[in-house]
Amino acid sequence: MSSILMLNDLEEITLDAEQIQDDLLKEILTLNTNTEYLRRFLHGSSDKKLFKKNVPLVSYEDVKPYIERVANGEPWDVISGGLITRFLRSSGTSGGKQKIFPVNDLVIEQMGNIFALRSLVMSKHFSDEQGKTMEFHYIKPESTTPSGLPVAAAFTSFFKSDYFKNRPSKSKSEYTSPDQVILCPDNKQSLYCHLLCGLSQRDEVVKVGATFAHSLVRAIDFLERNWKELCSNIRLGHVSEWITDLDCRSSVSVIIRVPNPELADLIEQECSQKSWEGIITRLWPRAKFIQCILTGQMAQYIPILEFYSNKLPLVSTVYGCSETLFGLNVDPLCKPQDVSYTFVPNISYFEFLPVDHDGDMTSIVDLVNVKLGCYYEPVVTTIFGLNRFKIGDILQVTGFYNRTPQFRFVRRKNMVLSVETEVTTEEDILKALACATFVLESSNLMLMDFTCFADISSFPGHYVCYWEIKSKDVVQLDEKVLVECCSVLEESFGAVYRLKRGTGLIGALEIRVVQQGTFDSLMEYFISRGGSMAQYKTPICINSPEALAVLENNVLARFYSEKSPPLDS
Ligand code: AMP
Repeated sequence: MSSILMLNDLEEITLDAEQIQDDLLKEILTLNTNTEYLRRFLHGSSDKKLFKKNVPLVSYEDVKPYIERVANGEPWDVISGGLITRFLRSSGTSGGKQKIFPVNDLVIEQMGNIFALRSLVMSKHFSDEQGKTMEFHYIKPESTTPSGLPVAAAFTSFFKSDYFKNRPSKSKSEYTSPDQVILCPDNKQSLYCHLLCGLSQRDEVVKVGATFAHSLVRAIDFLERNWKELCSNIRLGHVSEWITDLDCRSSVSVIIRVPNPELADLIEQECSQKSWEGIITRLWPRAKFIQCILTGQMAQYIPILEFYSNKLPLVSTVYGCSETLFGLNVDPLCKPQDVSYTFVPNISYFEFLPVDHDGDMTSIVDLVNVKLGCYYEPVVTTIFGLNRFKIGDILQVTGFYNRTPQFRFVRRKNMVLSVETEVTTEEDILKALACATFVLESSNLMLMDFTCFADISSFPGHYVCYWEIKSKDVVQLDEKVLVECCSVLEESFGAVYRLKRGTGLIGALEIRVVQQGTFDSLMEYFISRGGSMAQYKTPICINSPEALAVLENNVLARFYSEKSPPLDS
């Protein structure tokens, strides 16, 4: 993949997707066919037909022994014909356990290229916006494999790379935060300093963002609890003493060194208002849009970000995972609910397994052969040595950009709730939640975060939802409203759920309201287990007893649905 991409290239590569995918597979097979892994299936051939016929579709558990051997110091050619210089660690919060994937520096270049393409697409829509970006990015210290190779989350690897460090100075001055703030290993100091830099340069900020919406919501929540201290720093031109990371401290001190009481007064005036409606546009009046991923499970944060931003455009731009990047949204101004991602055909070789394949693996199709409206799980083959690897996401084809398909993110495959034989998917839960959010909003309440689990410890089993709620003014839990939310959730679940609930095989759905800050503690729990803040996603369903204990310790009140949902809905 060339490192200088122009928008024209997106036109070219999407027009020529089939050829590009074929050439890429050829390149990958030529490089990797003599690895120990592929030799078993291809016997040294790089023939596409043989690849399709012989190489099995796999999940992480199938290739884990090979990956671990390389991590433990065996030669790379167990899995890869090229260099392996590092491992990417998945967040483990969207699909269960953390996984590690072997890569080399090309992966950083691929990320850089996708971000460059994203900027080009955005500049078509927001061309005359000269100014800065306030983005909440973080890293997590790397660990190493027994063989001494670094292991880190994808974004940590990107931000710590020479590619990022040596980017042109023009793009360095784009961010309100200096690199040292992103690179600070303590995420709390980093978050505080991101806000301090963003507030002190408020007149220049034209874009506010984060990778995932969760980080942005968390940042605003943190601001709500810490604005007085931030204002005092701006007033005095002095960074709080608890910012002890030296690089971070000195780089931020330069930015706020001139005491600015007028600015501090102005920020205080906005933040001390009872309602935080429109706080983003009030504090950063030149902000034109908000950029962060808001699809899939991040969709739960759409209402709260609309509230904070006075309905600025919310732009979901990229779709990817630790295994590979997939693509980007070429229509950034569409509604966040309507986002589709156009796959970029020169990143990895993409195949698609129909969701209803009934075990018939021959129904798998190439990128250009997917059918409009159909549902698929992507399967990837990467240059770094993943072969026909099932990603575990479900996507729907929504259209084509030139010859390249566009996909709506539907859900994670293995995220389901079930207490009986019913299957309630992540998508079902998110749809139900959107309905319940309406009820909450009409009472001036906002859902800050949620998760759920199927409690089968007693009969009948029932769904338990943990909700952290915030008020647009003073929090008052109205029993009637929360009981109504329980019913609304049940009403929007599938027919099997409603039937079983009606016959008493499923018990009344329960909402447990938890204290403010509980979901922060949950995040800290996952981060302490190796997750990264930048890629953190609150799991939609939780099974781990330790994680459930974090929630249980903070339950304030419980509410149950009081009626069975109607059978026809
Ligand atoms: P990880 O590799 O741990 O960072 O997680 C990758 C997973 O995050 C993907 O497989 C998706 O389930 C989810 N994800 C990443 N990007 C998006 C997106 N744009 N929309 C929805 N889900 C996403």
